[in-house]
Amino acid sequence: MSKMVNETLKAELGRSAWRLLHTMAGKFPVEPTVDEQEAMRDFVYLFARLYPCGDCARHFKVVLEANPPDVTTRETISNWACKVHNVVNERLKKPIFDCAKLAETWKCGCAENEEEASS
Ligand code: FAD
Repeated sequence: MSKMVNETLKAELGRSAWRLLHTMAGKFPVEPTVDEQEAMRDFVYLFARLYPCGDCARHFKVVLEANPPDVTTRETISNWACKVHNVVNERLKKPIFDCAKLAETWKCGCAENEEEASS
């Protein structure tokens, strides 16, 4: 099996993964239950553990150690995701994102609650 790194696919994976993380954070309950907080925390650590790009996952685990996810509210987890993405941006020499623009950037295209979703 080829060990050649395909940077295009790796970047595409990254964009998809960040989209999932930021949109999940943006849809996290404003006032989550303890169970929802635990689910988000578990997701973040499993995401880091199972992320398919090995080097990225290794680096991201170090980022997580210094920046554990703050699952208190939708706002805290959204800002946390923005912060850790910026840590990765910095390492990759990419522009730092303005976290005030989170809501306008990340929209999932889905309804805010189940009643709306089923209508
Ligand atoms: P991306 O960084 O993918 O960002 C996509 C879009 O998100 C941007 O266009 C912008 O609109 C928005 N955005 C940017 N910053 C933020 C922010 N802070 N908060 C919210 N939104 C933002 N690649 C490597 O080469 N080496 C690595 O070690 C590596 N580690 C990674 C670790 C993780 C956990 C993930 C998910 C990805 C990693 N990647 C890594 C991929 C890398 O971060 C990029 O996804 C990839 O290089 C594509 O970059 P991009 O410039 O298209 O924008």
